[in-house]
Formats: sequence, C-alpha cells, structure tokens
Amino acid sequence: LQEALAEGEGAEEAPPLVGEEKADVCIVGGGYTGLWTALALKEQEPALDVTIVERDIGGGGPSGRNGGFVMTWWSKFTTLQKICGTEEAVRLARLAQQAVVDIGEFCDENGIDAHYRRDGWLWMATSPAQIDAWEETFAAVSAAGQTPYERVSPEFVAERSGSPMHLAGIWEAGAASVQPAYLARGLRRVALERGVQIHEQTPMTRLVRGRPPRVETERGSVTAEKVILAMNAWVGSLPEYRRSLVTITSDIVATPPAPERLDAIGWRDGISLSDSRRLVNYYRRTIDGRVIFGKGGGTLAFAGRIPASFDRESRRWREVTNHLHRLYPMLWDLEPTISWRGPIDYSLTGAPFFTKLGGRPDLLVGAGYSGNGVGPSYVGGRILASLALERDDQWSAAGLVGDPRGALPPEPLRFAGGLVVRESHARKERAEDAGRRPSWLATKLSKLDPTSFIDRGLTKNGAAALRSWRSKSNVGDE
Ligand SMILES: Cc1cc2nc3c(=O)[nH]c(=O)nc-3n(C[C@H](O)[C@H](O)[C@H](O)COP(=O)(O)OP(=O)(O)OC[C@H]3O[C@@H](n4cnc5c(N)ncnc54)[C@H](O)[C@@H]3O)c2cc1C
Repeated sequence: LQEALAEGEGAEEAPPLVGEEKADVCIVGGGYTGLWTALALKEQEPALDVTIVERDIGGGGPSGRNGGFVMTWWSKFTTLQKICGTEEAVRLARLAQQAVVDIGEFCDENGIDAHYRRDGWLWMATSPAQIDAWEETFAAVSAAGQTPYERVSPEFVAERSGSPMHLAGIWEAGAASVQPAYLARGLRRVALERGVQIHEQTPMTRLVRGRPPRVETERGSVTAEKVILAMNAWVGSLPEYRRSLVTITSDIVATPPAPERLDAIGWRDGISLSDSRRLVNYYRRTIDGRVIFGKGGGTLAFAGRIPASFDRESRRWREVTNHLHRLYPMLWDLEPTISWRGPIDYSLTGAPFFTKLGGRPDLLVGAGYSGNGVGPSYVGGRILASLALERDDQWSAAGLVGDPRGALPPEPLRFAGGLVVRESHARKERAEDAGRRPSWLATKLSKLDPTSFIDRGLTKNGAAALRSWRSKSNVGDE
C-alpha cells in the first residue's frame, strides 16, 4: 500500500462525509468486495447512485496488504460440496476460476498495472506429514469431471518453488498473483471515474435499521434504499455475526529486492506458493525480486473486535522469517526489512456467505472469505449486486447465499478455546517439521478447529509417508 500510494496510484480525492446524504445504494467498506459490488451495480444500472463509506482509505484493509494470491475455489471444493452439493460446487468453482481471468482483463482494459501474472499456484507439502493433504480435494474434483489441477513430480515442485524443502505438491495453472494495493487503488480509481461516490476516513458509527436504512458516520449519514456491509472481519462486530467468524491475523514479511539470488535458485516468475499446514505458509516473488512471505494463524481477536495492533507491523516477524529461512536455507542471510499484518475473517465452513441481515432484502452482508478473497471477492461483488438489484440470476442463485453456518461458543470461552487450538496447531506443526509424531493431545485439540484456508486433513497416504520418513530418519514421537 505504501508503494502504491507513493507512486500516486489512486490520488483522486475521496473526501470524508460531512452532512446528510441520500443514495440508492450505500456500501460500507472500500475493499475489493465493496468496490467490485459498486462496479457491478454501475455496470448494470449506470444511473444508480452508489456511495461507499470507508473508515480508512480505499484498500486500507486487507485488500491493500494481502499476499496477492489470486486463487479460485477449487481448493475449497469439498467444502463447497458439503454446503451446496456437487453440481453447484462445480458451478461456483468455475465462476471463481473465470474471475481470475476477468480480473486480469479488467486491469488491462482499465489501465490498472496490478502486476497481474497468471503463473499458477503450487499447493505443496513442506513436511512429510503434509504429503497428499490435497488428495481428497483432488479426488473429489476429478470425480466431478474437472481438471484444474495437475499432478506434478517432486522434482517439478522443488524446481518451480526454488527449493528442495518442498517435498511434493499439485499444480493449478489457472491461478494468478497481483500487487494487491495496486489492484485495490486501481479499482477505486475506476469506481470514481464511473460515478461512484467514495467517502474515505468515514467510519460507520451506527446502522439504523429503519425503512429505509441509514448509515450514520462521525459527521453525517447516508440514507439509502439498500445498504451493503462489505466490511470483512469487521462485520464480526454485529451481534448477528459475532459467533460466526473467527478473526485472527495473518502476518507477512518482505525482503529487499534480490532478483539475482532468486533467479539463481530458479524462482523467477509470479507463481503463488503455499504449504498444507493449518498455520499456512504462503509466499511469492514480486516483480522487483523481493520475497513476500506470509503466515496464517497469528493473534486472535476477542469478541469480534479488531484492535489497532492488527493494522501495524507484525509481532511475529522473527517466527515468520524463521519459516522463510527454513524453507529457503540458501537465502539464510536475506533478512526482511518490512512486515505487516491484517485480520482474516474465518467462517466456520471456510467459505464466504452472502446474506440478508435479519432476512431484510435492503440490508446485505458479504464476508467470511477465510483467507482466500482476492479472486473470490469478484464473485462476491457480483452476488451482492444481484441481491441488491433483486435480480433472479446465476449470481443471486449462488449456493453461498444464506446465513453463515454454525455458531461458536460465547466469549470468553471462544477466545480461550481459540488460543488452545492455535497453540495445538503450532505444537503439532513443530513436531511434524522435525519429523516427530505430534502428541495425541495436540492432534486431538487441533482437530477441534472448524476453520480452514483450504480443504485439509491428514490423509492415509500422508500418515504413511510420515511413518516411513520417521523410520528412515530415526526420529521419535513428541
Ligand atoms: C495479511 C493478509 C494476507 C492475505 N493474503 C491473501 C492472499 O494472498 N490471497 C487471497 O485471496 N486472500 C488473502 N487475504 C484475504 C483477502 O485480503 C481478503 O479476503 C479480501 O481482501 C477481502 O476483501 P474485502 O473487501 O471483503 O475486505 P477488506 O479489504 O477488509 O475491506 C473491508 C473494508 O471495510 C472497512 N470497514 C470496516 N469497518 C468499517 C466501518 N465501520 N465503516 C466503514 N468502513 C469499515 C475496512 O476499513 C476495510 O477497508 C489476506 C488477508 C490478510 C490480512
């Protein structure tokens, strides 16, 4: 985001709201979801008055500081199947796959240089226990007659990732990567050009659920026919969603540019790389040759409230850097110089939801991307726009339309339970990295976690691979 702002990307004015305004649609949140929704609304109804209120600046939330992976929903296929059946899961995953293409085309057509590179995604194992973690998903996707993934050899995985610490994986050619803030600020520019009103530095302080509803802000209000809450993890502050989301930071470090060193290990393009642990490691090379290395599962939010510390530099800088150096021992002396973090809105299924707040068609909500929102927010924007326009089409009929599923226990139980589960994941993964069998307790407790970034689970093959690796390496249990 600093890079994009320094280069003047999105320098157009979007002043705070002062006074009372009216709009056809008021969107709360100026990230990808809010912006794609506004653009879809204007595309379908150019005369519509659309206003966005954003507490920070457009893209000031995770949309401007994520890892930049533009992924599909194939990695959530078994989850989608459970939610809405195989046929709809295929349809949704194909829509998300097409979204990756459409985002690239939108950037081209609108002069957004978001460093879009469609160089694919490797879903990998970085410890023997993770081998074949993708197998259940791969089998389900194949059984549905779809072929987004390709089986690849361990040599291919090591070569494309640039390090033999990557033991196995599958390849999805259809994924892309972007510089996230250039995308967010570019969408903001195009939205402004198309007549969307944007008020930055304008937090909604209260949603008045009258008819019509009103969004109150510090120095004004917007009364609108429809209100759309595109607030990501902040939606957890509403009583309806407090028990539907687990909000936890994801933390990223970035190294200075070192293009020659990355070239030398064969890490040359914009490929998205991630492993199969629950506290996922995800990384990519930027256009100027930096390593961006992120890790999920950081600090938990209490009662859906997001503290200011979630917007600052990472407290896990050293831990995240250690993972980078473990996976790339040849880069041991390449030290990150910057870090950041942001909230992830894990739903209890791992898939997002798009719903009517209190069943009201004039109050809409979309959240719960669970760490995979860069590509899917394009689909989310189309769904929310169709719901707002009360269209009966392929978007409003999506199987993800409906209230979030499941409910977590109330606080402080939820927070305490979350800390225990996160610690169990960390212990289990430390043991697996060292080739030890994790303790029975850590394994059991980690299984209590209902959330996930990708479909997951230690398969029989993964367990067998771990056993065989342990016997060869002569290491014991935790
Ligand atoms: C560190 C990190 C790395 C990630 N990496 C990836 C990745 O590589 N690939 C991927 O697909 N996903 C990734 N994600 C997730 C992805 O960034 C999100 O799913 C996506 O940005 C969601 O877009 P959004 O518009 O719904 O949310 P946001 O970008 O969070 O937008 C919501 C906006 O609402 C605003 N808001 C909140 N409350 C109010 C209020 N009361 N009034 C007004 N405005 C308000 C916020 O300021 C924010 O700008 C990552 C997330 C993080 C934090």
